[in-house]
Amino acid sequence: MSTAPSAGARTFFVTTALPYANGAFHIGHIMEYIQADIWVRYQRSRGHTVHFVGADDAHGAPIMIAAEKAGKTPQDFVAEVAAGRKPYLDGFQIEFDHWHSTDTPENVELSQSIYLALKSQGLINTRTIEQFFDPVKGMFLPDRYIKGQCPKCGAKDQYGDSCEVCGAVYSPTELVEPYSVLSGARPELRSSEHFFFCLSDARCVAFLRDWTRGSGGHGGRRLQPEVLAKAQEWLGEDEGKLADWDISRDAPYFGIEIPDAPGKYFYVWLDAPIGYLASLKAYCARSGMDFDALVASPDVEQVHFIGKDIIYFHVLFWPAMLHFAGRKTPDRVNVHGFITVSGEKMSKSRGTGISPLRYLEVGMNPDWLRYYIAAKLNGRVEDVDFNPDDFLARVNSDLVGKLVNIASRCAGFLTKRFDGALCAPEPQALAGFAASWAGADAVGKMYEDLDYGRAVREVMLYADAVNQYVDARKPWEIARDPARAAELQSVCSTALNGFRDLVLLLAPIIPATAARALAQMNAQDVGWARIGDAFPEGHRIQPFAHLMGRVEAKMIDRLLGIDEAPETAPAAAGDKRRASAAGASEQAKGGAPSEISIDDFSRIDLRVARIVAAAPVEGSKKLLQLTLDLGAEGTRNVFSGISTAYRPEDLVGRLTVAVANLAPRKMKFGTSEAMVLCAGDDAGLYLLGADEGAEPGMRVS
Ligand SMILES: [Zn+2]
Repeated sequence: MSTAPSAGARTFFVTTALPYANGAFHIGHIMEYIQADIWVRYQRSRGHTVHFVGADDAHGAPIMIAAEKAGKTPQDFVAEVAAGRKPYLDGFQIEFDHWHSTDTPENVELSQSIYLALKSQGLINTRTIEQFFDPVKGMFLPDRYIKGQCPKCGAKDQYGDSCEVCGAVYSPTELVEPYSVLSGARPELRSSEHFFFCLSDARCVAFLRDWTRGSGGHGGRRLQPEVLAKAQEWLGEDEGKLADWDISRDAPYFGIEIPDAPGKYFYVWLDAPIGYLASLKAYCARSGMDFDALVASPDVEQVHFIGKDIIYFHVLFWPAMLHFAGRKTPDRVNVHGFITVSGEKMSKSRGTGISPLRYLEVGMNPDWLRYYIAAKLNGRVEDVDFNPDDFLARVNSDLVGKLVNIASRCAGFLTKRFDGALCAPEPQALAGFAASWAGADAVGKMYEDLDYGRAVREVMLYADAVNQYVDARKPWEIARDPARAAELQSVCSTALNGFRDLVLLLAPIIPATAARALAQMNAQDVGWARIGDAFPEGHRIQPFAHLMGRVEAKMIDRLLGIDEAPETAPAAAGDKRRASAAGASEQAKGGAPSEISIDDFSRIDLRVARIVAAAPVEGSKKLLQLTLDLGAEGTRNVFSGISTAYRPEDLVGRLTVAVANLAPRKMKFGTSEAMVLCAGDDAGLYLLGADEGAEPGMRVS
């Protein structure tokens, strides 16, 4: 199964869209960076070389205006924003090789040379245009500072350059009922000479028809089908559907000067994508690589990750600019949708959404978010919803309940009883594991195609198989019999082989957890090619430290800025959290539960539990304090509202069913760590039981 890393080794130049340097990252940026970072880590785990760069998009009127308001130079303003990037990138383990800015000598040189090349091709012309001028502010108005009705669909309050409703791109003078965002004044038309990139030129149209339909590197797709369809729609059936692109702005402007054109600057969208190249160039200079050779090489796959709002720029303007400037064009443009929170589109201006820094500040594990986002991403241009309750259930069930659970049930026996040494795994068990999922090649293809959600589901099938094996063999029972030591070592070694595979499979998604787990297994230097290889007999692992905690409801409440509820009302915070989630389940609205999938059901970790102690709770008429034995899962303290139906002494020794992965709830009397299942209505409460023979800790499904 292993392949030599040098065979078919690939080289990538990968970028994410350049964030505008007028503010901190929001969760939408972080989602894009996580998507790209997972892909990059996957490629690296296959032994491929990846140059992964980003940069701040520093130019343009909005930054000039914001800097002026803040009493700073645009350069100082941008530098301050850039200085705040690191905690986000480090915090979410996004490993760009280099982070640059478009306000740099590299970008000036590249932008001017690309422009001059386009000019020499006869693809730049000038025209005197009538442009909106704000008579109150005394300046030509940038597109984004004029609003009005979209000329195509009639939507109100659309920006001067493009419509957020129908996606149309147009010039501000086409807006119906325009107004200045700066002063509210009705702008006046004044004449000015502008520079245009002749996208309507037949050569451009022919090239783009061909390019958009082309394939990416290694036989993959260049554009996703829905992006290709959008591009075809823009390109039209006949010539002349593309408009020339206005690439100049008049002073005052924070940007790059157009050669031989005093007082004229490149529109920020011309030099922004060139910033990808500028960042790579700076990175090459720093690391001793030949930028010109790298960026021109047909063997280097150029891959851009972008959001669905900037497709037009990346599949029309950008490849045409590069091609007609005599440069290599992108191999692949990966477009993702937006992230919503509980079904609501996040918006900077409305301030909703999740703050990525707050996520880190409240002590939430970055691997949780990476995993959750990965689990929800597919290769299509679809929005991703962050649902707090779903996040908690998913992470606790998959990462803690399935992945980490294997190590916590088996690694300890190996380190305590066998000095950390593994024996040969059981071939039959390994064959069973292999049959449970699609295999490393198929999952690799899913990573390659950005179908991370499917990859995660396949990996969890493997995790289920390993857990079922451990459940069936019960190492905690074998451990009681000294005569069965060899069997104990064999079962734990077999399970740990599965665990190592699972960690390698998920390493691109949960890098910090994977690094810790691999270090504890003394397996840190292995990549994708080792998936399915067994540890050699006698391989030693180290004692396992805690790998990952559970998501707690109170963390999510703090993340969402929900006040912590008083301890006497333990359910309030959770209720508010659910109430804050638009699109919450039917159940939360008081109706009958809606239909769920088997996946939804399997996220509830139901276990057989033996009630080993039961006591009344002083100060409460409703509650009994129960101690549940969950077998290998340990014991749990539970407060249950059943004292009106049962006397404590009647409960001790009984088998019942517990929800084992319910987030702990802090109550007035202590923390409740699980829930026992009861049937009931106003007439009475009836504890669910299990027939004798069932063992504490057994899964209920
Ligand atoms: Zn529109």
